[in-house]
Amino acid sequence: MSLWLNGIGVSRGVAIGRAQRLHSTDLEIPERRLQAGDIEHEITRFYGAQRRARDELKRVREQIPPGTPGDIAAFIDTHLLMMDDRSIVDTTIGHIRSAKLNAEAALKRTRDAMVAIFDQMDDPYLRTRKDDVGHVVDRIQRVLMKLSTTAAVEGAPKFDIAEQTVIVADDITPADIILLSQQKVVAFITEFGGPTSHTAILARSLGIPAIVGLRDARKWLRDGETVIVDGEQGHALAAPDAEALTFFKSKQVKLAQDRATLQLLRDKPAISKDGVKIRLLANIESPDDAIHAAELGAEGVGLYRTEFLYMNRKDLPSEEEQFEAYAKVVSAVKGPLTIRTLDLGADKQVDSGARLGPTPNNPALGLRAIRLCLREPELFRAQVRALLRASRFGEMKIMLPMISSVAEYRQAHNFMAATRIELAREGYKMADDVPVGAMIEIPAAALASPMLARECQFFSIGTNDLIQYTLAIDRVDDEVNYLYDPLHPAVLQLIQRTIQSGVRAGIPVTMCGEMAGDVRYTRLLLGLGLQEFSMHPANVLEIKRAVLDADVKSLQAQTLRLLASADIEEQQALIAAL
Ligand code: PEP
Ligand code: MG
Repeated sequence: MSLWLNGIGVSRGVAIGRAQRLHSTDLEIPERRLQAGDIEHEITRFYGAQRRARDELKRVREQIPPGTPGDIAAFIDTHLLMMDDRSIVDTTIGHIRSAKLNAEAALKRTRDAMVAIFDQMDDPYLRTRKDDVGHVVDRIQRVLMKLSTTAAVEGAPKFDIAEQTVIVADDITPADIILLSQQKVVAFITEFGGPTSHTAILARSLGIPAIVGLRDARKWLRDGETVIVDGEQGHALAAPDAEALTFFKSKQVKLAQDRATLQLLRDKPAISKDGVKIRLLANIESPDDAIHAAELGAEGVGLYRTEFLYMNRKDLPSEEEQFEAYAKVVSAVKGPLTIRTLDLGADKQVDSGARLGPTPNNPALGLRAIRLCLREPELFRAQVRALLRASRFGEMKIMLPMISSVAEYRQAHNFMAATRIELAREGYKMADDVPVGAMIEIPAAALASPMLARECQFFSIGTNDLIQYTLAIDRVDDEVNYLYDPLHPAVLQLIQRTIQSGVRAGIPVTMCGEMAGDVRYTRLLLGLGLQEFSMHPANVLEIKRAVLDADVKSLQAQTLRLLASADIEEQQALIAAL
């Protein structure tokens, strides 16, 4: 009998294959007390396991096929760095010595303490670092316990690699995703994780359909049975009947044709039917992503998140190191580039080792982003100096995250102006014009946007945070995720107000939150007057198609009517009919 299962669709596409369940990532860790004379031997055993785990991971790194998107290798590099992280290694050795624990139990103690810290973090990117710690520790544990470190290898005896396979696991490490994607794996299903989990990000980059958060998937699916995975809807269908198979096979064919047609749009300018030029830009996280983004049809970069330079390390990146990274990215990007200044919270100290205060109870409302930079001028100065020095290599804009008022914007702007004078005195060359703008991601900023627009040179709407703060829902709390609604009338009004303020003041307005890359909202956003969209590069062509198909003037008239409606149901119906 067929069985429908539902999770979160995170990587689009339809796949049909045979289920293969992987071993659990939950290990039973043995705990022993050591005799004093055995401690040094146990430490040597731990170092040996750490070395072997690192060597194996290096081999995985070498197997990454050429042409694979940069973020895949970046995941493995992060894990390689973590393998040697003193907070893992030294702490574990400390537990072996002081608590006379066997290496496995000592390592578990280290992991539990680190996970507890990550659990308190607010930022979704930093929270996914918890998975990194888990994966790195798990790999060393498996070597210590003489278990296979690779899901693909352990599955091999039951694993008919001649078949199209759907991997079903509680969680999958980035290394295993790389190895599995080189076999005949057509889809991933995991029991845990959300849209920002590793499985989700990597599956999207590799173009493999995936569902995450499908609770008890390994209980419901049996090895070898046929499963259909719809990575868009988040549905899995086990033991499908002939009718379902025919339906999904034809959906697969349509999707493949669709992908091929999208490719034809790559070099076409994004101009609506009624002649409105729309700018489609990419969100990137490393200088290497810029090249990939251009290949996928992006005209430039609307958001370069610089936090990644500060993560997975003990120290802060120096001005020189930052200068090199920014110079590389500004030279690599053909077209405009908007770099965002540091957007970290008080939780930053875990990665950088900088003492930036204790983790507060409510970090999303605390000392983060521009607030943190203004509180820590030395931290901000190094970044602003590096940015301004790199500005002479191309077209660069600087964007300030979490601006909440005109006064805060002025303070940051004055700081940058003073830094420019300081650099000029030291003889550095800089671009004459480096536009500075504010991210509009706090409701107060959207409401104050007419005033902000008189000072800023551009706006960028960060819907991820704007929705979180408007609707008072923690964007990383699974329990309240169901309330996360980009179409909430309050959110739409704030977006509209921000765009209108920008238009009236004659400054460009970009949107760089997830909403900009979601084709379900493109017509509405065009109707609201948005002309610059910045998104994950993989979405650019689909958004371009929606733009080519749109008549912006008529969408604007329809959108005005629907926003004026006082009846929420009518409003939602009008949005659906756009
Ligand atoms: C946003 O808040 O929409 C945004 C783009 O910033 P981040 O997701 O990095 O907070
Ligand atoms: Mg944000």
